[in-house]
Amino acid sequence: MKSAVIVNVDDNELSRYARNRLLRHSGFDVHDASTGEEALQAIRSANPDLVMLDVNLPDISGIEVCRRIKSHSDSASVIVLQISATATTAPQATAALENGADTYLVEPVDPDVLVATVRALLRLRNAERDLAASNAALREANRMLAGLNEALARSNRDLERFAHIASHDLQDPLRTVTVYVEMLTRSLSNQLDEKQREFVEFILDGTRRMSSFISDLLAYSRFERDKLELQPVPLDDVVAWALDNLRDKIRDAGAAVHRETLPVVWGDRVQLAQVFQNLIANSLKYRKENEPAVIRIEAERVSPEEWAVCVRDNGIGISPEYHDRIFGPFERLHGRQIPGTGIGLAVCRRIVVENHGGSIWVESEPDKGAAFFVRLKAAPAEQGQT
Ligand code: ADP
Repeated sequence: MKSAVIVNVDDNELSRYARNRLLRHSGFDVHDASTGEEALQAIRSANPDLVMLDVNLPDISGIEVCRRIKSHSDSASVIVLQISATATTAPQATAALENGADTYLVEPVDPDVLVATVRALLRLRNAERDLAASNAALREANRMLAGLNEALARSNRDLERFAHIASHDLQDPLRTVTVYVEMLTRSLSNQLDEKQREFVEFILDGTRRMSSFISDLLAYSRFERDKLELQPVPLDDVVAWALDNLRDKIRDAGAAVHRETLPVVWGDRVQLAQVFQNLIANSLKYRKENEPAVIRIEAERVSPEEWAVCVRDNGIGISPEYHDRIFGPFERLHGRQIPGTGIGLAVCRRIVVENHGGSIWVESEPDKGAAFFVRLKAAPAEQGQT
């Protein structure tokens, strides 16, 4: 490792010589000077780590030399160890330190103490440099991260825009196919045999599935953060609205829905209604065949600022290894026997997590029903009340 460079400034030749020897012997690269001007010159040419500065110099005082070292940007980080004559007063010591000296020793200075002090000061300076270097590295890493985040957000926005345009543009030709297949079927109604009717039904079934897939994709790409209208939302109203939309399905399933009084949360009314409609619709869809569906909607205060609202059913349940996966877009655990596109829970997650800063998760086991939890912020007026 490179030796630390020291400039030893002292007008007394004997003591300068003795200290040069001591410092060289201790492994330092030593330059020396006998006046203030020489000291400033040596500092410029040797670029030292530390200057050992006698206060009493013939031309410029040591305190002034120190001030100049510290006020020049090229030498401001050089450590200054000031050494003064025997009878130093407290104001003199204070003046030296206030002019930038890093420490202050009074003659006579024990050689071991001097070397130990030099080493301690250099250690401190190295630690400072390391800290500055890691701060700079951290700043650079943060800057890169911010750039990457921005690029990711941009590419997400582009993808969303693409999904939106593509799904929008696909709807038209699909509608055309459906309409013309239906017209063709009607005009050929007498000529079609059983097999051909089945083929037509396959085509129409395919277009129906594709159509619901496209509208779900559109729904998924529509929930952008900047279109939110956050306000106090009474979940009682939101759930009532969702249940009203699902009235026919609830009746067809013979389902019983029990709900507690629900809290007022902070959110976007339309988007939260979508969340609860999706969750309740799933509870109906994934019910057991041989048991009437029972759905419970409950709420629990989990912190002064937050509620966890739960939609619990007695349906077919979900194996724990799928608990995370089902919230990803197009993730389905069921084939065509149960209709769906795998978008519903992905929409819920986007709304709850990205748009409301909340969280959503499921607790479930196969055959034991499922409980979907939605954690949301309480409306400001409600916060802290129980
Ligand atoms: P979809 O219902 O269109 O398939 P979702 O995103 O709503 O899409 O749900 C993803 C998957 O999670 C479903 O395919 C189903 O397997 C499972 N799932 C969702 N809700 C429930 C539930 N209440 N009970 C059992 N499984 C569920």
